[in-house]
Amino acid sequence: MVLATQISDSTAVPYRAWFQCMHCPDQHYSLTEVVYRCKSCGGLLEVRHDMAALKALEPDKWRALFDRRYMRTHYPYGSSVWGKKEMVCPAVADENVVSLYEGGSNMFWAERLGRQLGVEDLWVKQCGDSHTGSFKDIGMTVLVSIVKQIIATGQQVPAMVCASSGDTSAALAAYGAAAGIPVVVLLPRGKVTAAQMVQPLANGALTLFLDTDFDGCMKLAKALSNEEQFYYLANSMNPLRLEGQKTVAVEMVQQDDWTVPDWIVVPGGNLGNISALGKGFLEMREMGLIEVLPRLVVAQAAHADPLYQSYLRGFETFEPQRARKTLASAIQIGAPVSWERAIRVLKTFDGVVECASEDELADASAKADLTGLFACPHTGVALAALFKLVAQKVIAPKDKVVVVSTAHGLKFPEFKTRYHAGDLEEFGVVPRFRQIPHEVGAEYGAVQSFVLRHLDGLRAKVV
Ligand SMILES: *Cc1c(COP(=O)(O)O)cnc(C)c1O
Repeated sequence: MVLATQISDSTAVPYRAWFQCMHCPDQHYSLTEVVYRCKSCGGLLEVRHDMAALKALEPDKWRALFDRRYMRTHYPYGSSVWGKKEMVCPAVADENVVSLYEGGSNMFWAERLGRQLGVEDLWVKQCGDSHTGSFKDIGMTVLVSIVKQIIATGQQVPAMVCASSGDTSAALAAYGAAAGIPVVVLLPRGKVTAAQMVQPLANGALTLFLDTDFDGCMKLAKALSNEEQFYYLANSMNPLRLEGQKTVAVEMVQQDDWTVPDWIVVPGGNLGNISALGKGFLEMREMGLIEVLPRLVVAQAAHADPLYQSYLRGFETFEPQRARKTLASAIQIGAPVSWERAIRVLKTFDGVVECASEDELADASAKADLTGLFACPHTGVALAALFKLVAQKVIAPKDKVVVVSTAHGLKFPEFKTRYHAGDLEEFGVVPRFRQIPHEVGAEYGAVQSFVLRHLDGLRAKVV
């Protein structure tokens, strides 16, 4: 067996991965085949790895290899996704990797927020600190790299297509532009923010606004990619995305000297991210990188909560719903593609599903912001779920908790400005942490006495 230090940072390694049906073990396809569903039963596909090959190297050597590459300059291995290439996507040749230095996002020690909640070991994994401002980059790099590889072998892929609630389109457009592959994005008109809308435009994607919701866009993207073979589908139904996304599990463990938290809380919409997180932990355990599994929590907006409803029924049935308008617009999804993957993960991880009202998610974001975060509404959903589970004593004071922040707050400026302006009544939000700017005369005396009068209040706020 090669030593870790001898694994060359190139492709000549014996690691293998393929698509496999979730239900039919005999249905295997190459990762460079254009296929999104099982050809026998129509079920979802997953990426399977040759685990025997991965297990042949000792865990200490894997850890040392991953640590040695982490956030260094040897392209593409400094990317936290590609630094784990053997367990992510070994088939892609290095020259076909389309990387914008993904991962390596901050683990924010939420010390003050944790103290306020009575959970001393609270962390926020800032996945929105990334190229396009959301965690979608860490999956998209894998998908677009495979497409580049497909094209390099002579196959035609005239365009990649996705439906999006905003962030997927930004990631696909950026990676497509970096690779020089055309991109088509389908967005629900009026349901994405201006900041999200301008990203695919700026990156030159063909940007379509449709008078429907995300679920409607998804149906059309599926139809396009099924009927006109040449559109490569970039939604998370395509399990290549999940292979990149699973590295957030590895990365958060790596960032804490390879120890596993007790709980991870993640907002869920299409439910790809929770599925990926679960897969990452299970594969790490199989490779011996970790011994225990965390418990997982999916947080849903109450206005789009089909998984929560299913959880209340013990996962006996899953009913898609028509999602209602929510401030957490990226998870306004009533028919999540990966529901089956997610339920399987939650059953394995003794998982919990919680939900948050508009008022709860907005207040949770604002409360967290006062301790140094700048939480997007989806992160607000996860934080609100955390607050509830602490209050219910499901999460205990000594537990180590990681909240996954899925996007940068700056992608949702209207959410912040309207909250602090007290302008979210239509969502039933009563802003208890509202902050207001003060208009003061531009003279020393006026400024000095104003500040003095407010100093006690300001100091009280930061204890
Ligand atoms: C995509 C997205 C989610 C939901 O992730 P799923 O994999 O669809 O469950 C949550 N938050 C943000 C900001 C997103 O962009």
